Amino acid sequence: MNIVIADHPLVKHKISLLRDKNTGSKKFRELVHELSMLLCYEASRDLALTSIEIETPLCKTQGQVLNGKKTAIVSILRAGEGMLNGMMQLIPTAKVGHIGLYRDPKTLKPVEYYCKLPDDIDQRKVFLVDPMLATGGSAIDAINLIKRNGANNITFLCMLAAPEGLRELQEAHDDIKIYCAALDERLNDHAYIVPGLGDAGDRIFGTK
Ligand code: URA
Repeated sequence: MNIVIADHPLVKHKISLLRDKNTGSKKFRELVHELSMLLCYEASRDLALTSIEIETPLCKTQGQVLNGKKTAIVSILRAGEGMLNGMMQLIPTAKVGHIGLYRDPKTLKPVEYYCKLPDDIDQRKVFLVDPMLATGGSAIDAINLIKRNGANNITFLCMLAAPEGLRELQEAHDDIKIYCAALDERLNDHAYIVPGLGDAGDRIFGTK
């Protein structure tokens, strides 16, 4: 299984604050930012390193630094924007892409209204971010788009996942890795995650 559910007291603490309906937008944004960094830390464990010689104030020694293999962070609009800064802070050399999708209410087919990806995304390790993995539809469509642009090393990061969405995503793309801060119980009739945290975009941006 390529799914990691974060199992860390800091993550559990922050997710509980995030769920609370009394947490206002400023605090909510800060929590999403912090949780993104904690998830990014986990999801970047396999970044390749190279050895270098460095000189401390005392002596020469061997150190390890990232080997410069290219990365990209792609945000699914609009709630993914809340996770972007935390990711960029930890991987500042990453190029950043954005994908905007909506479902045509008649055909139920995904319609891409915005897509700007790094030109060389096919050579990059891609971190795709969206706080809520609900039905899985947006993540699946975004990954289809990213793969069509040639990328084949994709990791998806979210705050909360519903079992239904995880299943769909795994069935559609069994080659990707998935990192979630928490796995919830189910989706309700309106495709909201339960217990969830409400509408992530609205809570990040203070809209209704
Ligand atoms: N998107 C959200 O913002 N919240 C949900 O519960 C499901 C999808």
